[in-house]
Amino acid sequence: MKKYDLIVIGSGPGGEKAAVKAAYFLKKVALVEKGPLYGGGTTHFTIPSKILKEMASNPEYEKKNVFKEFIVKKKELMNHHSQMVHDNLINHKVDIYQGTASFVDANRIEVSHDSEKTIISGKNIIIAGGLKTLPPSDIPIDGKRVHVVETIMNLKEIPSSICIYGAGVIGCEYATMFAHLGSKVFLINERKTTLNRVDREIVEILLSSMKSDGIDLHFGAELKSITPPKREDDKVKISLSNGETVKADMFLMTAKRSSQLADLNFANAGIKTRDAGMIPINKYYQTSVPNIYAVGDVIGKPNLVNIAMDQGRYAVSHILKLDDMRHFSLSNMPQGIYTIPEISTVGLSEELAVNDGYDIVIGRAYYSDIARGIIMGSKHGMLKAVIDKKTQVILGVHIIGEQASELINFGVELVANQKTLNEMINANFNFPSLHELYKYAAFDGLSAITGRRMKKHSTLELVSINTTKR
Ligand SMILES: Cc1cc2nc3c(=O)[nH]c(=O)nc-3n(C[C@H](O)[C@H](O)[C@H](O)COP(=O)(O)OP(=O)(O)OC[C@H]3O[C@@H](n4cnc5c(N)ncnc54)[C@H](O)[C@@H]3O)c2cc1C
Repeated sequence: MKKYDLIVIGSGPGGEKAAVKAAYFLKKVALVEKGPLYGGGTTHFTIPSKILKEMASNPEYEKKNVFKEFIVKKKELMNHHSQMVHDNLINHKVDIYQGTASFVDANRIEVSHDSEKTIISGKNIIIAGGLKTLPPSDIPIDGKRVHVVETIMNLKEIPSSICIYGAGVIGCEYATMFAHLGSKVFLINERKTTLNRVDREIVEILLSSMKSDGIDLHFGAELKSITPPKREDDKVKISLSNGETVKADMFLMTAKRSSQLADLNFANAGIKTRDAGMIPINKYYQTSVPNIYAVGDVIGKPNLVNIAMDQGRYAVSHILKLDDMRHFSLSNMPQGIYTIPEISTVGLSEELAVNDGYDIVIGRAYYSDIARGIIMGSKHGMLKAVIDKKTQVILGVHIIGEQASELINFGVELVANQKTLNEMINANFNFPSLHELYKYAAFDGLSAITGRRMKKHSTLELVSINTTKR
């Protein structure tokens, strides 16, 4: 039986980064992956959905033919990413085991591949096994007309209409993508609100943009039943708890994702789990069994690649007693939501800051008020800074608009390093560039503090510019 310092389960972003970090510090590391491709959710979901988003938001693409190009590009980039993860593991001298891992006890893992079984042992183990959609058993998923996120990217053409269930991040992203590709979209959500971690003003802008793109929002409605089509040209019939019925060519379930770790036989290692197979951990990512750690989606929200990666690295720092990472704080990490328009956010929302007892001011800047935004023809974009009035520390930055997920990175530096309004004002940026939004949001915040507000949000309409709306 081969012995390792660390065994990692899963080659998604959490597992890959944990494995290579431990190996970099000359530890003997094994990684077990059950799928044929490496990279987990990044390879299977993040990359394909972002390719489609790029195509849906780019007016250069002839929408009718988007899927032909998408299918080719998706395959190429998925394989490319999988290979990159594989090569990174090999370059760091991580032993890769292809097969399904399950616990024999708190130190031994059995890897099953076809009929072969191998047992390896590890001083420490990191579980990074991710999530999969577990819809109620009465939903007739067929991967053709009734989909889950695991099947939707296998589409061959744009559906003329699609009903998406669940207006979380994934549901909102797909809703805006399909609407921009020309599908009629119905978005159903059990709760009356959505994206609860995101600043409400930003969510309201997204919802109003969705409505103006023709998306039908059915919020506060539960799914009662789905009747699959009997014939090719029939529609899927979706009945809701509020008595409404939606008919669409396709149904996509994005809610009800849960851990895929049933194979792992946690009981053999004595690991405690909670609802939906999620694994409770302490602040060092240790499970109820101290030499076994869990990172990424299996420990709960937010389900993000950047967070899974740093959790993996952080767990390894704890195992190796390295003092190289500052305490892991979710509030200093950005979240990217790749809707059209894109959203990105870091730190406290206006609502959370008020709930936490801060006396705050808000600084806003609009894409349509700065040169780069005007050149790009941006109509709806906004950057909002939440500022502590007393100390003038930037508590949160929230952006909706093109390149929000790129722009936020300066906001991360401001929030994570508790920078002040004055430091935000003193930053100098290229002209024209979208980063100017930070400067003008800071001036706006200062105006809110001094009460001297001179600049107004421009209401000028530019007629000659081809706007982003298609
Ligand atoms: C449609 C969609 C779009 C998304 N878009 C984004 C985005 O734009 N940005 C972003 O940051 N996040 C995005 N996410 C979320 C992101 O993909 C996940 O948060 C991330 O992949 C979680 O990483 P992980 O390492 O925890 O697990 P995963 O990436 O899920 O990897 C888990 C791996 O473990 C393997 N595994 C599981 N059980 C076993 C076992 N018993 N034995 C061996 N191997 C096992 C699996 O095969 C898999 O390869 C998206 C998710 C979805 C569904």
